[in-house]
Amino acid sequence: MKTIIEPFKIKSVEPIRMSSVQERAEILKRAGYNPFAIRAEDVLIDYLTDSGTSSMSSEQWAAMMRGDESYAGSRSFFRFEEEVRRITGFRNIIPTHQGRAAEKILFNVLHKPGAVYLGNTHFDTTRANIEYLGDEAIDLVIPEGLIPSKIHPFKGNIDLERLEDNLKKHKGQVPAVITTVTNNSGGGQPVSMENIRETSRLARKYGALFVLDSARFAENAYFIKMRERDYADKSPREIAQEIFSYADATTMSAKKDGLANIGGFLACNDDDLAAEARNLLILTEGFPTYGGLAGRDLDAIAQGLREVLEEDYLHYRVRSTAYFAEKISEAGVPLILPPGGHAVYIDAGAFLDHIPPEQFPGQVLANEIYLHGGIRGVEIGSVMFGKQDPETGAFQPAVLELLRLAIPRRVYTQSHVDYSAEVITEVYKKRRELRGFKIVYEAPYLRHFTARFEPLA
Ligand SMILES: *Cc1c(COP(=O)(O)O)cnc(C)c1O
Repeated sequence: MKTIIEPFKIKSVEPIRMSSVQERAEILKRAGYNPFAIRAEDVLIDYLTDSGTSSMSSEQWAAMMRGDESYAGSRSFFRFEEEVRRITGFRNIIPTHQGRAAEKILFNVLHKPGAVYLGNTHFDTTRANIEYLGDEAIDLVIPEGLIPSKIHPFKGNIDLERLEDNLKKHKGQVPAVITTVTNNSGGGQPVSMENIRETSRLARKYGALFVLDSARFAENAYFIKMRERDYADKSPREIAQEIFSYADATTMSAKKDGLANIGGFLACNDDDLAAEARNLLILTEGFPTYGGLAGRDLDAIAQGLREVLEEDYLHYRVRSTAYFAEKISEAGVPLILPPGGHAVYIDAGAFLDHIPPEQFPGQVLANEIYLHGGIRGVEIGSVMFGKQDPETGAFQPAVLELLRLAIPRRVYTQSHVDYSAEVITEVYKKRRELRGFKIVYEAPYLRHFTARFEPLA
């Protein structure tokens, strides 16, 4: 059958408030043409992020009621620990309030002067935590991973040759090699089992730990099942277990494949590393059996981790993202292909090729899809990553001008996706009428969150 049916029924609903184009034009003006400044209730379909936005199942809500809020040694912790261990196999499981808290603790423990981390593409919070300590993060994704239209089954793979070169060059300075599954900053692209296995072998050969940033481990496992030889008959759980078997440690944001609204963890085998991590955890997160989470959150994650590996769920998840991408691709819209697991990335630079990077085509497109259909996405281009040359003041664009539409898990139905594709296709037809923006206010750091814009005449 071609039709994707959502493998769930809906028991509790949250209304979407409809709005008119005129109303949305006013809202955009008030928001300084920055979708981050729009109230959620003024959005029809919200693709700002897939983080913490999942719908929980009835079993997860039931698990919340079983939450044990004891300060130390709560039953919720042991249920959480058992589930994480069943998938990852790690001895030490340390809960945190979200993924970046696990990263902060791990990189503090591993820090030494001149440390260099090597990975496919370090996610923003990973890179920020490394650089905050004065250490360095080097991205070594394969060249195909940087070309939007290039078809390759595992565009998240690390370039093994450059990895080995860098391990040699920085010998003794690399505390860990980090593979992010799926490669979020590289378009949610998967990493193959072969690449994970070889990365692990190389890391160990040069005395580095192999760490997985595993926010979307289940989506990655499903891509391996679909695309890699010898894995078609394995279950997503078996594949996930094999992925983790090659690693020494993992940090995870449970706000993605944990199917939870908050949470994360750090897990590893080394007891000394775990002891140091727990000491830091007590300073910033809390006692080691709750780590910044309520007992009910630990239970919601434990149940979410069981559900996320169900094959029906993963099939629906990956197929519905691909369906969205295929629909707009057929209409001629340029995008990153093949689509990753959690988002569709429109190539706004090609979509609006009459608008130069210094007039922010991704931001223009983000505004237009909101105006036209109430859809919210996020610019990942020169608003987020563009710079000014400190000497000449000349504009330095980002590598790509993208608009990301991240899809919350189990939240929207196929008709929401059909509507979204219709809106984007209509905007594509009138793309020549669109004009660029200029920035009228920006903060010194992370300007994309609060910048204000004005349309150019
Ligand atoms: C979201 C994310 C993080 C950070 O997790 P938070 O829970 O948002 O702190 C780290 N790495 C990857 C790959 C992510 O997607």
